[in-house]
Parts: sequence; C-alpha cells; structure tokens
Amino acid sequence: MIIVVKKSAAEEQLQELCAYLHAQDLRTEISRGDAVTLVGVVGDSSCVDADRLLAWDIVETVKRISEPFQKTGRHKHPGDTVVEIAGVKLGGGHFAMIAGPCSVESREQILSVAQAVKAAGAKILRGGAYKPRSSPYDFQGLQEEGLALLLEAGKACALPVCAEIVSAAHLKEFEAVDLIQIGARNMQNFELLKEIARTGKPVLLKRGFSATLKELLMAAEYLMSGGCEQVVLCERGIRSFETQTRNTLDLSAVPALHELSHLPVVVDPSHATGAARYVPPMALAAAAAGADGLMIEVHNNPRFALSDASQALTPERFARLVCAVERVRAAAAEDGERG
Ligand code: PEP
Ligand code: MN
Repeated sequence: MIIVVKKSAAEEQLQELCAYLHAQDLRTEISRGDAVTLVGVVGDSSCVDADRLLAWDIVETVKRISEPFQKTGRHKHPGDTVVEIAGVKLGGGHFAMIAGPCSVESREQILSVAQAVKAAGAKILRGGAYKPRSSPYDFQGLQEEGLALLLEAGKACALPVCAEIVSAAHLKEFEAVDLIQIGARNMQNFELLKEIARTGKPVLLKRGFSATLKELLMAAEYLMSGGCEQVVLCERGIRSFETQTRNTLDLSAVPALHELSHLPVVVDPSHATGAARYVPPMALAAAAAGADGLMIEVHNNPRFALSDASQALTPERFARLVCAVERVRAAAAEDGERG
C-alpha cells in the first residue's frame, strides 16, 4: 500500500500517521518528493481500511498494491484449488456439468430430469427448492418438500445435489445438500455467508447482477475466512443496457477470475441469457474460455416449467450440448490454451 501525503503536511502529522500504521504491525518507508510525500506501507496491509486513511487531513490518496483477498487470491496460493463435491472434482483441469431444473416441481419431474441429465453425462444435479422470485405471486418453490425430493432424486441416480439456500434458518434442512448455492441476490448477504462458512460445506457462489469481480472475490473471502475451503465461483451474467438477453454474460470473467484467484469458475449460461436457444452457443464459448464447469437448466417439459421456462433446455438438447462441450474442451486442450 502506498499513501500519498499532501505537501502541506507537517512533520508531526506525518509521524502521527506512521505511528498509527506501526501500531498495526506495519512498517513505513517515507519518500519525500517536491510535490508530495509517499509513505510505503510494508507488511500485510489487507486489514488496513483505506477509506479510514482518507479521513486523515494530510492524506491525498491511498493506493493498494496487493489485493485484499488474502485467501481467494492467487498471489498466496499459486496452484489451482480442486473442489471436491461428494467425489466430483471441479478445478485444476477437472470439469463437471451441473444440470437440472430451475425448480423442483414434483417427484416425477425431478426424477425424470435427474435420470436424463445423468445419462447425458451431468455430474451434479441442481434443483431449486426455495426460489428467490422477483414477484411474491410467482411460484416460490416446494421448499422443504422440494429439497427432500431433490435429495431423493440425487440418491436414486447417484448424483450429488446442488440447491440454493436463501436463509440461514434453513441450514439444518441443507445438511445433506452436497453443494450449497448462494444466488446472485445474496452474494453480498454477508451474515448469510458467515453462517454458511461455518458449516465448512462446498459452496457455489454466484456473482451478483452488478457486482465487480473484486466484489465477488471479497464475498468468497467471507466464506474462506469463515472456514469454508471449498468455494466455486459462478459467472451468471450481469445487468447491462442490453434487453435482448436476460443478462449479459461476462465471459472475460473466466480468464480474469483464473488470473486473480485459484478457485474454480463455473459459468451459468441459462440465467445469463434467459433464452434456451442462446444457451448452447454460450456454453460452448464458456468451455472454450476455460470454465471449470457449466450450470445448465434442464426441464423435462420446458413449456410447463413453473419457473424460468424460457431458458430451460430439453434433456435431448442437453445431451447434444454435453457432447459438443467435450469436443470444444478437447480442441482447446490440443491448442495448449487453458481449457
Ligand atoms: C438459480 O440458479 O436458480 C438462480 C436463481 O440463479 P441466480 O441467483 O443466478 O439468479
Ligand atoms: Mn432459474
């Protein structure tokens, strides 16, 4: 961290600032220039609140040299983290498809989708039981019953399951869930993140609609610093001025997150595009970009889906996509590029 101190600062004030930093186990190196004085802060400055430093009259600006994500950042952890979800690996060259309906709707529906995605090559079954819907009048999910049906279908097909949690009050119900999803709407629900971190379970953390990658990593930092080692990041599209798609898929998030962090990155082209016809091309693009996994919504009968009907793939379309993703991954690997 470098602190730019105003030229008008008195020596006494400068020493007071240095003493404040020394009290936090940091060293300071002062360099006096004609226009400004620079204070180099040496040591682990991740806990120093730059905003608080700006409250000092003599401070002009504060520049962080190293990022504050200590646990999620690649600088202290150069190798890729491999997250293991009930035997399924993600990251460090391991790739997996997570597939299933937006919402669990009935025993028949979840079982039929589970069997179909398993046969097609999916490694994890997804299904929403508690649905965070924009309207309170829309289907809210089968809740406790939905979770039980998802677990039943997962067991029947020998697939680990992934479901979104919306409240820490449901943690007991989620004990048997293999991969806990934190949705875009809750990415910065820090109290929820802290509670989930305490369980130590693998977590899929989705990027908020308008969150920067650094904010996503700081949210992941809450999980990791709270005891959760197994975090999967998920790019699911961000809000932009474009209205043709539900969101705008930020595919550059994949290489950028891989550069900044050691955690696996999954892409969800279903919520990113909101339209089934756009899902396969963007899934292939994500695979080419080096994603460690894909999350795809699949429904046995999309026209009758109770949520996100327009973006659900049929099981047949999903099966074809799995084969195409494999071909793209093989081509990218041959090319020697990450992926
Ligand atoms: C979901 O996965 O069903 C979901 C609601 O996703 P997101 O949080 O990305 O909108
Ligand atoms: Mn959905």
